[in-house]
Amino acid sequence: MNQHHNSRLYQSEVFRMACRQFDLAADAINLSAEVRARVKYPRRAIAVSIPVRRDDGRIQMFEGYRVQHSLATGPSKGGIRFHQDVTIGEVAALSMWMSWKCALAGLPYGGAKGGVVVDPRTLSPTELERLSRRYMQELIPFVGPDIDIPAPDVGTNEQIMGWMADTYSNHVGHLEPAVVTGKPLALGGSAGRREATGHGVAYLIRAYLEELGIPPAQATVAIQGFGNVGGETALALAEFGARIIAISDYTGGIHNPAGIDVKKAHAYVAYNKSLREFDGGAPITNEQLLELECTVLAPCALERVITEENAPRLRCRLLAEGANGPTTNAADKILGDRPEIEVIPDVLCNAGGVIVSYFEWLQNRQSYYWTRAEVLEKLHRQLDQAREAVEAQKRKMKFSRRLAALTLGIQRVADAKLARGLFP
Ligand code: NAD
Repeated sequence: MNQHHNSRLYQSEVFRMACRQFDLAADAINLSAEVRARVKYPRRAIAVSIPVRRDDGRIQMFEGYRVQHSLATGPSKGGIRFHQDVTIGEVAALSMWMSWKCALAGLPYGGAKGGVVVDPRTLSPTELERLSRRYMQELIPFVGPDIDIPAPDVGTNEQIMGWMADTYSNHVGHLEPAVVTGKPLALGGSAGRREATGHGVAYLIRAYLEELGIPPAQATVAIQGFGNVGGETALALAEFGARIIAISDYTGGIHNPAGIDVKKAHAYVAYNKSLREFDGGAPITNEQLLELECTVLAPCALERVITEENAPRLRCRLLAEGANGPTTNAADKILGDRPEIEVIPDVLCNAGGVIVSYFEWLQNRQSYYWTRAEVLEKLHRQLDQAREAVEAQKRKMKFSRRLAALTLGIQRVADAKLARGLFP
């Protein structure tokens, strides 16, 4: 029984995609009609206007959103995206995925997401600071360590989280680091947080390669997106001995069958801000990268890049979804008929980020800090648990790995909502 997507507010392709995924999962576990709509739709959404003084004195208005999908199991949690194509529908879809991800990973959080419609590359550092602070200022009544805890996503970073933590702290009158995660270490950030998402992606890739009987040193890897997630995934996989044969960012990609020096690429991007004209290989497009023959394909940029067009042409053994929502519903169906490709679905694959954000919040609340080795050891344990739960569900229910992961997350959110009553 598939429901209609009867939301006017969130109309967008990516929201319809998240709803379609939800409907399939809800059908597969026979979720009762009564609880379905309550689990599916976001609890609340906040839209704010953000006036920013540009360096030349002009005042420009930006629009920002925060969607809190579920507050049933604790505060909501999720990143903030600064990107010119952000819509409230996209933010809502990302908030749904955060709910399933947090539940799957066993974290005491619901899902949320935020976004500002802006290309951050067009702002100076001082303009970016004013935008970040004002966005947080507008959210103060709706966020907090027990309410909603933002983190970085596409186009935001540690420095921006630092400004936001400071803005909130000035409001409450004392440093409150637990209001955001992904902060600079100097403000209560966690050791290992910066690399957590990519490290987790690489850790899971290594585990699934092992199941396939492929030693990391024999694996070739193509990665789309070379920001926080893609860049750290590349470094971690290179450390495991894998050969990174292609990388890309919004300016295009680089292909080198002999292997790309990812440390050099990192240094290049740190200095030049993009991979444009990085001479580590031959130029290719982002579309070509996705269709390269490789052991592991890791989309680590934006949503909806694996489509019904290119899904039949993928030539990887493992599709590791570092990005959220990289695979459309139609593409997923096609991959379902291609058993030679194993999929590590986004809600499992990139969960390392929110897991270490949870550790950061715990450390902030206890004012007791862990070493990087402790953080990573706990991260591995939590990822192993989530992965084993997904594999058990997959075997027991004869589901795809994506359906197994989604149904586990969704069932846990539904159980909590039912146990609490009608309010949350
Ligand atoms: P980021 O801003 O650090 O990096 C994004 C990268 O994608 C950049 O290299 C950018 O140039 C590239 N990119 C942008 N548009 C592109 C396009 N059209 N084609 C190809 N590349 C393009 O962002 P991030 O934090 O690495 O996030 C990437 C993905 O991972 C997103 O889907 C995000 O939601 C997801 N994610 C992030 C985290 C986290 O901790 N940062 C955690 C879980 C999931």
